[in-house]
Amino acid sequence: MLEITDYRNFEIDNQVFVKPDYLNHETVSGNKLRKLKHNLIEAKNEGKNTILTFGGAYSNHISAVASAGQLLGFKTIGVIRGEELVSKIETNATLSYAQSCGMTLKFVSRDNYRDKTNSDFILKLRDEFGDFYLLPEGGTNALAIKGCEEILTEADKDFDFICCAVGTGGTISGLINAALPHQKIIGFPALKGDFLSQEITKFVSNKNWELITQYHFGGYGKVNTTLIEYINDFKATTSIALDPIYTGKMMFGIYDLIEKGYFPKTSKILAIHTGGLQGVEGMNQRLKQQNKPLIV
Ligand SMILES: *Cc1c(COP(=O)(O)O)cnc(C)c1O
Repeated sequence: MLEITDYRNFEIDNQVFVKPDYLNHETVSGNKLRKLKHNLIEAKNEGKNTILTFGGAYSNHISAVASAGQLLGFKTIGVIRGEELVSKIETNATLSYAQSCGMTLKFVSRDNYRDKTNSDFILKLRDEFGDFYLLPEGGTNALAIKGCEEILTEADKDFDFICCAVGTGGTISGLINAALPHQKIIGFPALKGDFLSQEITKFVSNKNWELITQYHFGGYGKVNTTLIEYINDFKATTSIALDPIYTGKMMFGIYDLIEKGYFPKTSKILAIHTGGLQGVEGMNQRLKQQNKPLIV
């Protein structure tokens, strides 16, 4: 199985610490490794030699699955949203990396992609590729949440607040399940929409959590110059790189909430750095085309 590297929490100031879970592995990094771990064990136990999953053109999950498959000897298939991307693999850092790991990329139209949980669509994929272990988009399922419960350790027991970015809700669900009674989990959705609370409620029974929904910066994958400058300043002062899709938005939100007095002054906050740094190159390419400042 993939080795999970040890690290220490990083102190930013008296109140805020970062758990650098992006350091847990070189290529299958952050929460995507946590979500894959028990799924990969299960796939091996079931005797599967192929893993099929779904994602967009810059997906951290696609990148992680491709790398894990290469390291552990699984064939991998990535069903990618957007037919037009088939001619752009070489210029897309995520897709070309996935392909270099041996992942087979299948491009589908945005309309077809919407059917990704539909059993007819999955049957057609089985006709095309044979038997496979199926991972949903973003990798969230019960085994993924089990892996995310392992993010928090003994060293984190004194924190009052634990913060994370939210995409599908798998990571925060694991944190909620693993939290101690005195701890509150705060999630910062990276996208618009109010379906997330319901999703999370399916996976957790504790009530010690809250979503803060005003730091999505316009929606999934959307950024502005304020956010980019924040990410660059944060790196200059702490040497910690943030990604623009998830952890940058979370960290911006945490410090904005501190300024607004949301957290009691003496409370201790742990921000989970869930990774996502492979996506910086792709974002910079888009920013460059728009003549906007880049992430340094
Ligand atoms: C995928 C991802 C998330 C979101 O995790 P979910 O379990 O889908 O909520 C957060 N941060 C990073 C860096 C990610 O890649």
